[in-house]
Parts: sequence; C-alpha cells; structure tokens
Amino acid sequence: MSSTYYLRSTCRLCNSVNLTKVFELTPTPPANAFVSKEQLSTEQSIYPLELFFCEDCAHLQLLGVINPAELFQNYVYVSGTSASFVKHFSDYARSCIDNFNLSAGDLVVDIGSNDGTLLNFFKNQQLKILGIDPARIIAKQASEKGIETWPEFFNESIAKKILKIKGPASLITANNVFAHADNLDSIVKSVRSLLKSDGVFIFEVSYLGAVYENTLFDTIYHEHLAYHSILPLIKFFNSHGMELFAANRINSHGGSVRCMVQFKGGPSNMNGSVQSLVDYEYGLKLNASQTWMSYADKINILKNKLVDLLTGLKRGGKSLAGYGAPAKATTLMYHFGIGPDIIDFISDDALLKQGLYTPGLHIPVLSSSAIYEKKPDYVILLAWNFASQIIKQHKVYLNNGGHFIVPLPEIRII
Ligand SMILES: [Zn+2]
Repeated sequence: MSSTYYLRSTCRLCNSVNLTKVFELTPTPPANAFVSKEQLSTEQSIYPLELFFCEDCAHLQLLGVINPAELFQNYVYVSGTSASFVKHFSDYARSCIDNFNLSAGDLVVDIGSNDGTLLNFFKNQQLKILGIDPARIIAKQASEKGIETWPEFFNESIAKKILKIKGPASLITANNVFAHADNLDSIVKSVRSLLKSDGVFIFEVSYLGAVYENTLFDTIYHEHLAYHSILPLIKFFNSHGMELFAANRINSHGGSVRCMVQFKGGPSNMNGSVQSLVDYEYGLKLNASQTWMSYADKINILKNKLVDLLTGLKRGGKSLAGYGAPAKATTLMYHFGIGPDIIDFISDDALLKQGLYTPGLHIPVLSSSAIYEKKPDYVILLAWNFASQIIKQHKVYLNNGGHFIVPLPEIRII
C-alpha cells in the first residue's frame, strides 16, 4: 500500500476502538479517477472498501483513508452547473437569513464552498462572506468572480487566521464535506473557535437512512468516509460542548439531511425534527451491527442475480453498454463485476467525462448518441437513480428494439 493511504484504528466520531467490520465491497481505485487515453498504460492503485460499525456510538464508516490532497485538490465538480442545485442553495440562503436574523455585515463562512454558488446568495443580501475550498482551480475561479475563496482545507490554523482577518462568523456552513473529512474533531474545534456565541453551524450530508432504505450502497466509495445518522451525531456534538437542535431530510444526492448545530444552551430551541429522526433510526435498527450485515447479504444476492443475467446475455451473443458514469458507478461496476468483458462503452451526458476512461476498468466514456450509433442490445443504467429520466429521454432507443437494465434497487429489464 502506498503512503497516500492509511488505516485509522478508532471511530471517527467517538474515538472508540470497539469497531466491527460489517461488510466489504470489492476494492476499487478512487471513484472519480477517470483517465485520459495517454494515461491508460499507467496502472491505477486499488484500495480496500471496508465498512466498520462503531459498537459504542453506532457510526458507520470507512477506516481506510486516501490522502485528501490526492482526492480533492484537482477536483473538477462545479455545483453551479446544475440548475436544481442553484435553486436549492438560493432557498437555503433565504431560510438561514430569515430563521437566524442575519443582517448586513454579518459574516458567513462556507467550508467546501466549491464555485461559491451558496455564498453568492448571501453576498447579494449584503452579508460578508468567505469561502474555503482546497480545489485550487475552482477556488481561484470563484475569487475572480467576486466570491473570496481561500484554497485551503479548513482546520484550526485557518480558523484562527479567519478570526484575525474577518472577525467571528454568525453562520458557518459545510455542505457535502462532513462525509468527506477524516478529522471531524478538528473541523468542529475549528468551527467552535470561529463561531459567535449565538452563531449557527449548518451542514448537509448524505443520510444513512436513505442509503439503507433506497439501497444506495454504490454511494460507498473512498471519498465518503462517514455515513451519517443522527444518533451518533448527537453524541459527537455533545462531546464538543455543542448541540444538534434541528435535522431535516432533504432530497439532494438521493437522500441527505440538513443538520443545525449551536453551542450548548444557544438561542435556538430544540426542534422535534431531531427526535423524529432518532425514532426513525431506532425503527430501522440502524444502530445495530446485525442490520448492516444483513444489508450486505441483500447486496450480494442482487449481485449474483445481475451477474447471472449479464453473463447469460453475453453467452447468447448480445452486446451491452452502460449509461451514466457518476463516481458511484465505480463501486457498482467493481462490486457487481461489470467490466470490459461485459460492456463495450458507457454513454454519459457530461462533456467533461466524454473521451475519458473509467477508473481502473478503463471503459471508454462516449456521448449519449453512441447508443444509437453502436446499437447495443442492452444498456445497463449505471446512474440508476435517474432511470426514469434516462428512459424517457431515450424512448427512440427502446423503439428501435433496445433494452434497458436497471440494476437497483431491484433488477428490472425494460
Ligand atoms: Zn463511535
């Protein structure tokens, strides 16, 4: 194993060593490590994908950590490119301003600010803003557009520097970073040092309840170190002298949760949303390691069914392709054995990915028109969460005699 990878030995939330390995997926390269034609001859490193359950706080997590500099400094995902995301952030900013009486001159700091889409809505309301994001190119572009963004990982020394230059923050946000950071203790200590005594820390993160209910096992990949549920988070913030006072489910990324945190005894009242999610988690037994072992069994039954189907089709001389190459397709393809022996290419609508090859398996990514030119008999929807949309968009492919295979949450042939 290279120096870019290490295995931690304690729970990311409570530091317990009482950890049970509940399942392992097939090892993969980093899920976003698409390569160009020139890079095809360089072999890509593959890392284990093992899920551990903390018997003390019930937090589900990866302990294997790939160096974040390798994963995030050259990140290309830009949130402002999706219209629904822009609307989401616009509503988000509005509700923060209304609920927490933010006014002109108050400072909002966004951790993992990406292209500054969220901060821009605060800026328009005359709030002071600062973005922190380690993706250097995206940070530079955001600053050039007027959203000051420091190309850094958020930590205690950066928090100190912000405090000195900008003063304390009334609101700190962190969206889709709380699952990605290894050292959550450091993030929360840094938040504490920067936040006003009556300030609020809000983060959005993928929700474990959705991973469970919607069979989103393919959202398990190395960038996502933590699979958050409410029960462990309550304990975690408590240990840092803070309280989770609201937690609301939202639709982003197939099912996420927006959590609101303040200093213990802060101005916001404890909201019933936290207790209702705790009840829901107890109902599903998300706090029992056995639940996750059964979950793995369920995934592996689906895997065997799909492998039988695909190898049968190949034996019958059928041609197959894939549709959609999101990061999570890497987990799906490796764990379900969908390699170059099964599919010839993948169509994807994102121009940035066309012409590249998938991480490790090196399947070419082509435009969506390729399914009309190459006419595969079957197309597996790797971006299966968008199945209905893709099927609607490609009625003509079906009318021409093609078939779609939806791999999850149940296998369907259309
Ligand atoms: Zn724990």
